[in-house]
Amino acid sequence: MTRTLLRGGTLVSSVEETRADLLIDGERIVAVGLELDAGDATVVDVTGCALLPGGIDTHTHFEHMVASGATRTADDFTSGSIAALCGGTTTVVDFVRAPADTGIRDAFLRRRDRAAESIATDFGLHPMATAAVSDAASIAELQRLATEEGATSWKFFMAYPGSMVGDDVLLAGFRAAAEVGALPMVHAENGHMVADAIARLVADGRVDPTQHVHGHPGAAEAEAIQRAAALAKHAGSELFVVHVSAAEAVDALVRLRDEGQRIGAETCPQYVGAAADAAHVTGALAAGFVCSPPIREAANQEAIWRGIEQRVLHTIGTDHAAFTLAQPEDLPPQKVVHDDFTRVPNGVPGVEERLMVMHELGVRRGRFPLTRFVDLVAAEPARRFGLERKGSLAPGKDADVVVWDPAATRTLRASELHSRSDYCVYEGLEVHGTPRSVWRRGTLVAEHGEPVGELAGTGAYQYRSTTTPTEAR
Ligand SMILES: [Zn+2]
Repeated sequence: MTRTLLRGGTLVSSVEETRADLLIDGERIVAVGLELDAGDATVVDVTGCALLPGGIDTHTHFEHMVASGATRTADDFTSGSIAALCGGTTTVVDFVRAPADTGIRDAFLRRRDRAAESIATDFGLHPMATAAVSDAASIAELQRLATEEGATSWKFFMAYPGSMVGDDVLLAGFRAAAEVGALPMVHAENGHMVADAIARLVADGRVDPTQHVHGHPGAAEAEAIQRAAALAKHAGSELFVVHVSAAEAVDALVRLRDEGQRIGAETCPQYVGAAADAAHVTGALAAGFVCSPPIREAANQEAIWRGIEQRVLHTIGTDHAAFTLAQPEDLPPQKVVHDDFTRVPNGVPGVEERLMVMHELGVRRGRFPLTRFVDLVAAEPARRFGLERKGSLAPGKDADVVVWDPAATRTLRASELHSRSDYCVYEGLEVHGTPRSVWRRGTLVAEHGEPVGELAGTGAYQYRSTTTPTEAR
């Protein structure tokens, strides 16, 4: 087996920074400590760098067919996951939606096979309990997927025709999740409020993509969070809220926490690093910014930072759903309709930028220390989503290591990123701190932001454990 000694770095966990060498044997970390004996290991000098656990993005949509079936994201499993590795993310948890007339279990097994043959990161999958697959038989299949296949988190939609489920289904689904120790996740927006807001915009002829943000009131997010919380409490289940974007939603999470309810929640870099009311976000780029929940006004960003600081937001995922502004020949319609947000496919790229953006805006600008950064992008995602071999640099764990160079600077540009998307919502942002090299299960997979070697199909499916509730800290 190949042995590698990373010498001279500083190990960062969610609680401390420690000067130590790190020894990798095969796919695992076997020792950490000062002055480790190299023996026959290849020594890599990482003096001056921080060693971080490989990033974990529990919210990606690679090779994703939109619900209507009308189009597909630009990134397939290969391009999306290579972008992830170049940015320091070694594990993703993507989603599986059952197409019409396919059961969720069959859809899951098929998508897992497809990913396994083409993905470059390690990966898990969250099954989606959509309107079509939320009857009793489907819920029983979800339970089997949790206990037999380690798919221990399920996504429920509280908005969007075709996806949205009612309180009855949420209640039954949450109870079924609690029975097997699975984690119910919710897209928390009140679907009726969103549909109403969009209908009013359409009636007024306000369909320019800059108006998209007004179709998703923050109050709709807060209402859905409070309702999901009440249902989870009634069902005796855990709850995880994905992509929290609104100030009202943060307020709701703080209230619920103060009442003693334990709810996990994620936010995304685009909700602190991009703004719908920025002057340059017009025309095609405004279509590029269309995602749901929306990128909101700049004034909203402080509330998200406050949610992170108050620990009601626990993880940073990207909701990476990459489309292009220009239309490539080999892809179905991308963000080519620039004058009507109701016809623009929703989603933004970001899987490669996640660590650099959150480090720059969070750590460099003094909002939280490097330990909390590790917590948000790796440690807490591993804990909450049952990735037991990931999320920390301890002996016995998978050797997923990011050699982070705090002295390196870089200006983010879409043309230098690896997503097939052709724009970046952080275009022009200068970051201080980049991944110098990235190791996934002991293999060097990226160096100086570029992939190393043949990576397609080298990612391994992760059987995830059932949830262990994380106490409010
Ligand atoms: Zn999503």
